Amino acid sequence: MVTESVSKPGTEAGGQHLKSSLRENRVFPPPAEFSARAHVRSLGDYEAMYRRSVEEPDAFWAEAADSLDWMERWTRVLDWDGSRAQWYVGGKLNLCANAVDRHALGSRASKVALLWEGEPGEQRSLTYQELHTEVQRFSNGLKSLGVRKGDRVSIYMGMCPELAIALLSCARIGAVHSVVFGGFAAQALADRTNDAQCKVLITQDSSFRRGQPVPLKAIADEALTRCACVENVVVFRRSGTPVPMQDGRDHWWHDVVERAERECAPEPMDAEDPLFILYTSGTTGKPKGLVHTTGGYGVGTLLTTRYNFDLHETDVYFCTADIGWITGHSYVVYGPLLNGATVMLYEGAPNWPETDRFWRMIDTHKVTIFYTAPTAIRAFMKWGTDCVRKHSLSSLRLLGTVGEPINPEAWMWYHREIGHERCPIVDTWWQTETGMHMIAPVPGAVPTKPGSATRPFFGVVPEIVTKQGEPVPAGCGGLLVIRRPWPAMARTIFGDHERYVKTYWSEIPGSYFTGDGARVDEDGYFWLMGRVDDVLNVSGHRLGTMEIESALVAHTSVAEAAVVGRPDEMKGEGVIAFVSLADEREPSPALKDELKKWVAKEIGALARPDDIRFTPALPKTRSGKIMRRLLRELAATGEVKGDTTTLEDFSVVASLKEKDEE
Ligand code: ATP
Ligand code: MG
Repeated sequence: MVTESVSKPGTEAGGQHLKSSLRENRVFPPPAEFSARAHVRSLGDYEAMYRRSVEEPDAFWAEAADSLDWMERWTRVLDWDGSRAQWYVGGKLNLCANAVDRHALGSRASKVALLWEGEPGEQRSLTYQELHTEVQRFSNGLKSLGVRKGDRVSIYMGMCPELAIALLSCARIGAVHSVVFGGFAAQALADRTNDAQCKVLITQDSSFRRGQPVPLKAIADEALTRCACVENVVVFRRSGTPVPMQDGRDHWWHDVVERAERECAPEPMDAEDPLFILYTSGTTGKPKGLVHTTGGYGVGTLLTTRYNFDLHETDVYFCTADIGWITGHSYVVYGPLLNGATVMLYEGAPNWPETDRFWRMIDTHKVTIFYTAPTAIRAFMKWGTDCVRKHSLSSLRLLGTVGEPINPEAWMWYHREIGHERCPIVDTWWQTETGMHMIAPVPGAVPTKPGSATRPFFGVVPEIVTKQGEPVPAGCGGLLVIRRPWPAMARTIFGDHERYVKTYWSEIPGSYFTGDGARVDEDGYFWLMGRVDDVLNVSGHRLGTMEIESALVAHTSVAEAAVVGRPDEMKGEGVIAFVSLADEREPSPALKDELKKWVAKEIGALARPDDIRFTPALPKTRSGKIMRRLLRELAATGEVKGDTTTLEDFSVVASLKEKDEE
């Protein structure tokens, strides 16, 4: 059902504010049958809970903390001095015990915790009880290799149950895990392992991606020639491909656990003891090792998973993110397992052996909650609906998205083709730094609008401000900041607290600086407009990239678009659009013209691209985000000199450059 609301286009208030020109006025109330059994059932209930959470934050977060089992109760909810936060001061707990033991030793012993499909098609499942056994043995295995509380452990694996077991085992013994995405090359692994000074590295022989083995151990071996800190390596045998093992340094996972004792008591951890380090994906520059701690992170991920996915006992939950990203940490491992959910893990590519792999798995395992990224949704759209419509998808009841602003056209496609107009779409805005969802619709309560992450989570106070920190008028775009600390916030950058304070807590004094631009509409809905670094300045008007890109994606010929500014003597900046076309559409000067006119008609002459460049693919990070800074550099200078270590496929940039030289 669609209801129309009166739309008020963004008011123009000079160069201070981001100009908003997206006119999106479709509203989708939560389906009645969904709300009827949801944790939060009406907008009124959401608003009452939200009000209480910000008026009495200590009471709200104290109550939230009761969802975890504590070994020692905390004495104060929050200590905050403007740059160092401590949540649940003095509390002791273990997150592995919370994510595994209490389910295994309680009513969920025989409930499936992890459900796995390998890319070639194998299936495995582990109950909470089995997970409990595996985690204890591997924890003892790590101890036998000299890993102690506070030591850092680097993890470089593919998606398999042992990856989750590795994280949980570190948490159990108090070691700090630093997961490096299995798609990164040796140098990236070496840099991160050295930065965190990891003592042990956990990897596997190889994993599968698009039918090919990914030689993780071989890449790790190369990285390790540059990592003096690593004393021991654990190798999980996933595929059976032969790998050299270095005597004294390398140990098979199965040997390590076979020798290990069966029982391992969870280490009592201070609420503020570090749980993990995770390096950001590097869309905007050199990766930073963000440090997350135990108590607040546990509370934040548990609560957001429960409310934003409206998680119930019978759900089968499938998040397609790799555990190597924050989404995988918070919403594949910790959030769902802390809630005792059944979590689906998939090893490989979404289009292997065919483009319907996800839809097939959803039907096979009766998945109820599906969480993916706009970049994946745009790929599904490109692959066409035939492969989707072969499957029933009738088990699904909720869809999520994360990673980039979702173009309204992609939202509508997701809603129609995957959700069959029955599933609420939960667009979750958050960051590696925030640890947990910050802005997202609580699905039984908050009506959704395509392209908007909607409203803040309980206890979260976002605001739109100018560069000087002053609030902007409603409807105008500006900088998105968060007004007060929240429990799952990153506490520091590993080894560089000064950089942490400077990056996040100094730009707008007293507030957390997100680096994203956004606006709020008349209903209090947040619309993310892209990164502040990517904002264009055209004739004194500041334009977000997201809205122009969304207009382009709404054209039937366009699959994906990235918009950047190029220095222009007259206008300050001109608008350059890199466009990849839908299947079977051919680039032509006539189409360029048509697309320019289309943008001018859809959102105004100001946004009309000065140049459109067709490209088969856009440069993306390995987590699937468009790297506009490279395109900006290319548009301005015809060269790319910036850091490209997190780029997914360098040949994309090379081919763009060639085009430029034509
Ligand atoms: P780096 O900080 O190293 O450049 P990154 O910002 O891409 O990397 P993440 O922490 O994974 O690393 O991504 C968070 C960013 O992704 C947000 O700041 C925002 O720009 C974007 N983002 C994530 N989810 C959404 C969403 N639902 N809507 C809009 N933007 C989103
Ligand atoms: Mg970021």
